[in-house]
Amino acid sequence: MAKRVICLVLGALFLLALPLRANAAVVKKGVGTEKKIALTFDDGPSRENTDKILSILEKYKVKATFFVIGENAEKDPERIRKIYDAGHEIGNHTYSHAYISKIAPAALQEEILKTEEILKGICGKRPVVFRPPGGYYDDASIALVEELGYRSILWSLDTRDWSMPHSDRVASQVESDTCEGDIILFHDLEDKRLPTPKALERILPYLIRNGYEFVTVSELLENEAD
Ligand SMILES: [Zn+2]
Repeated sequence: MAKRVICLVLGALFLLALPLRANAAVVKKGVGTEKKIALTFDDGPSRENTDKILSILEKYKVKATFFVIGENAEKDPERIRKIYDAGHEIGNHTYSHAYISKIAPAALQEEILKTEEILKGICGKRPVVFRPPGGYYDDASIALVEELGYRSILWSLDTRDWSMPHSDRVASQVESDTCEGDIILFHDLEDKRLPTPKALERILPYLIRNGYEFVTVSELLENEAD
């Protein structure tokens, strides 16, 4: 019960803050989404963690979104294909994990289009969602990303799994903080210590029991009022 009230209050605060946001073109959360949430995995694909995460998602029939780095995708097209064939969404996370507000517009365009070409070559389809590396951006870079045909996606819940906390800490945080419409940030980067696969084994059954429905980022945005 208390959890429901906290989510309602947070949701109301989020809606109030909407017109005040410096840049409405950046999406942090789904609006009016019942109990839909989007799990996102950044910086892959990796040999160490992507397959483990894919099997857990498959086990619980959960769809997610992978914001992949172009450089990694180029080296590992089979794994990109595997993510795509499993029905997950693939997003653009630049070619070299560049901080988009710190590079020239021409360089940003190249980072995005190069990655787009690689992904199109593997999946036959271009990505439509983009996540700025590190979450850093400014209005000009986001405007360019939009011109290139992308929605820019941040997150509303950050697990900080990249800092290698214990998997139980990641799981407890997600279990207590998840609200409807959340975009949850995880990683599938190349590191044996990553707590994410183990945490997901606890998180997914818990959220399913609590009535959450897992959708891709694009599906979450279909619910937008505009
Ligand atoms: Zn990243």
